[in-house]
Amino acid sequence: MSPFCPSASDRPTHREPSRMQPALQAATRAMHGSEPNRMAGEPLVASITQSATFVQHELGECVSHSYSRATNPTVAALEDRLGAYEHALPALAFASGLAATQVLALSQLSAGDHAIVGAASYGGTVRLFAQVLAPLGIRSTFVDAADLDAIRAAVQPKTRLVLVETPANPTLILADLAAIAPIARAAHAIFAVDNTFLTAALQRPLDVGADVTLYSTTKWIEGHHATIGGALVTRDEVIREKLAFLRKSLGCIQSPFDAWLTLQGLKTLSLRMRAHSASALRIATALEGHCALRRVIYPGLESFDQHALALAQHDGGHGGIVTLDLHGGRAAAEAFVRVLRVTTLAESLGGVESLATHLETMTHGDVPQAQRERLGIHGGLIRLSIGLEDSNDLLNDIFGALDAAASSTFASTKETSHVS
Ligand code: PLP
Repeated sequence: MSPFCPSASDRPTHREPSRMQPALQAATRAMHGSEPNRMAGEPLVASITQSATFVQHELGECVSHSYSRATNPTVAALEDRLGAYEHALPALAFASGLAATQVLALSQLSAGDHAIVGAASYGGTVRLFAQVLAPLGIRSTFVDAADLDAIRAAVQPKTRLVLVETPANPTLILADLAAIAPIARAAHAIFAVDNTFLTAALQRPLDVGADVTLYSTTKWIEGHHATIGGALVTRDEVIREKLAFLRKSLGCIQSPFDAWLTLQGLKTLSLRMRAHSASALRIATALEGHCALRRVIYPGLESFDQHALALAQHDGGHGGIVTLDLHGGRAAAEAFVRVLRVTTLAESLGGVESLATHLETMTHGDVPQAQRERLGIHGGLIRLSIGLEDSNDLLNDIFGALDAAASSTFASTKETSHVS
């Protein structure tokens, strides 16, 4: 053996930091955690521990993992990275985004308690509060989260949770997080932010006073349309403990394989979010003014009502979601989706492949019609999730679909005027 190569037993198992190190940036933390400290011989890529249970030698022995409904090494690896990404405690990973929302709600609310929920939220979130939690005696007020007075007015003595989504699904209405945090704090309510649309790559609610961030990791975090998952992130030990207890009690932890895939996605999140944002801005800008469109909704456009708030609150881009408001309603939407070639009609968002979703019939089908109308969700609304295809190909695709939508609208207007 070379004198320069110490025997395995002499080798340090991990590298000692040689001097004070600068704090690592988020893109680095996504791969290595807050403090890289790899053991020699450790696999670079975390292993998948596909085991329901773990060996114990003694009765009552304290082992790091005992049963995979409570914790699992692969899920814990994801949780460490997700937490490090936001300078928070290890996250909690769930079988879905809605499982995370359910655990968050039940960790703070019991019968008689009250929640304030952004009215413009993912349809499943509205359904959970209005149709599942309400019959259990948990009351909710759905407010316009862009209206601070409405949030203040909604506070009740038993308000325990304020949950907003920003940008909200699908109208991209923004909530001013730094302004809402003190309202929630004064009400002694937990302030949670569904940060699914931007992720901590572009928006950091915990830095401006939120207690918990919530994610459907199904979307940008895993980023490849391959898994369903959710996560909750907090810097508060007490909140985390309650969430972990409920997750174990309700049995909704993420599976090791899905957690492993999500961990691989997380490694490129910072890079992807910048690329998705740049492409979305280019596409939104190019589409503005097309005759088939009443409006292009994208926070990065100057025409966006809350553009100034978007510039102040987002860091590095405005995400990959562009919502199109078509003149011709449902018929125009049907014509639009029929001719798409690169973009796929499907019910999700946040992956490398571009998707188009018709809100009225897909994600928001379960939201009561009156509430849909109040939120401006109608038959002509299409949500685009801009993927990582070449943006020229996407532009050609979307322009072709808009031309088809315009023709259908023109034909039906002519027909109507002919009949009348
Ligand atoms: N939050 C937002 C903003 C969403 O868009 C979704 C799903 O579309 C969810 C939560 C729920 O996530 P999941 O579908 O992973 O349960």
